[in-house]
Amino acid sequence: MLAAELIAKTRDGHALSADEISFLARGIADDSLSEGQIAAFAMAVFLNGLSLDERVALTLAMRDSGTVLGWDLPGPVVDKHSTGGVGDTVSLMLAPALAACGAYVPMISGRGLGHTGGTLDKLEAIPGFRTQPDLDTLRQVVGQVGCAVIGQTPDIAPADKRFYGIRDVTATVESIDLITASILSKKLAAGLDSLVLDVKWGSGAFMASFEAATGLAEALVQVANGAGCATTALLTDMSAPLAPVAGNGLEVATALDFLTGVEIDTRLWDVTVALGGEVLATSGLVDTAEAGACAVAQAFHSGRAAEVFGRMVSALGGPSDVLSNRTHLARAPVVREVYADAKGFVQEIETRDLGLCVVELGGGRRVPSDQIDPSVGLDWLAGIGQIVDDETPIARVHAADSDAAARAVDRVRAAYRVGSEAPAPSDLIAARIGPGTGVP
Ligand code: URA
Repeated sequence: MLAAELIAKTRDGHALSADEISFLARGIADDSLSEGQIAAFAMAVFLNGLSLDERVALTLAMRDSGTVLGWDLPGPVVDKHSTGGVGDTVSLMLAPALAACGAYVPMISGRGLGHTGGTLDKLEAIPGFRTQPDLDTLRQVVGQVGCAVIGQTPDIAPADKRFYGIRDVTATVESIDLITASILSKKLAAGLDSLVLDVKWGSGAFMASFEAATGLAEALVQVANGAGCATTALLTDMSAPLAPVAGNGLEVATALDFLTGVEIDTRLWDVTVALGGEVLATSGLVDTAEAGACAVAQAFHSGRAAEVFGRMVSALGGPSDVLSNRTHLARAPVVREVYADAKGFVQEIETRDLGLCVVELGGGRRVPSDQIDPSVGLDWLAGIGQIVDDETPIARVHAADSDAAARAVDRVRAAYRVGSEAPAPSDLIAARIGPGTGVP
């Protein structure tokens, strides 16, 4: 086969066969396709799109470009994927909760991207936690503890790693076909039986419009099910931070408070329990998503999820007393409260700007080589509809020095629109997409 001929087919709107797509994915992974050819293919897909069969074939071929994990465990292998946002600590609590319910969770997670936080960066706020163990360690920890949250290893979907890097610099990231294959190739390489997707929309989401997020959710659900992984998606609101906190160590503290029952944010609870219910149902461990949500809630109430989290942290190199000893989490030297100019209701939040503010404080990366400061970030973030005044702050800034704190205070204030009228309430979980729901 000739790569140029296959690229021409996509350019001219003709469908590729599964064998042709495999040839291209192999060539991306083993460097036999040049960067120019990969960029041309990406642009042809971006402009003309792929059929459902082609999307499934591309996802499977990218999955098969590296190791695909197989499991022999007494329960189903499941995972959750979020398209990313601000204050989204769900993975930290949901992975151990699902394990406590009898599922096994090899969660391959990512780092912060742009304004969005990343689960790996959060876990690295725990001293000693190893986010890049080899696949044997992953297998061992998942088998013994029930869950392991780790980073993508070089053997998982290598075609995606090269392809993504080229898309990033050729204006081809925002293709639903390519995003779908990219996300799912990595998830499916973990050998999942079932998956739940948290597709976010709103001012802090990767896809801000509800329509675009719905299109992505439908594509992901169709392709994942077409590839043999039972999958549903929830469309959840990211027009405000999910938890009232953003920043790596602060988010871990929030997750620990949640797991140990010290303080549980209602929005975080609702999304975590709903996602857990979905995946327990599609895995067959329970009959309905409602029964699954009850099982997840019980795993939190009983302390079993917290116990699994503690065992996972210690199995991956972190301290054995992470649940009870907060001195492991670094604290920022400067803490400042942020107040609105006038009393009123929080009407709108530029959530993306809050994420960028955390990056600017040093809690995210501007370039890949940046070191993250796990202690910085924002907490006490007011939600939409909350009343703020000169005694009730919009937020608190945690910074490395007072200059950084002053800049962040201005930025947070500018991200909040406060007015005299209460905003209309919006749905936290706006829709559920299952197989056969909607058309991509
Ligand atoms: N996340 C991914 O893993 N891939 C994409 O293409 C976009 C977001």
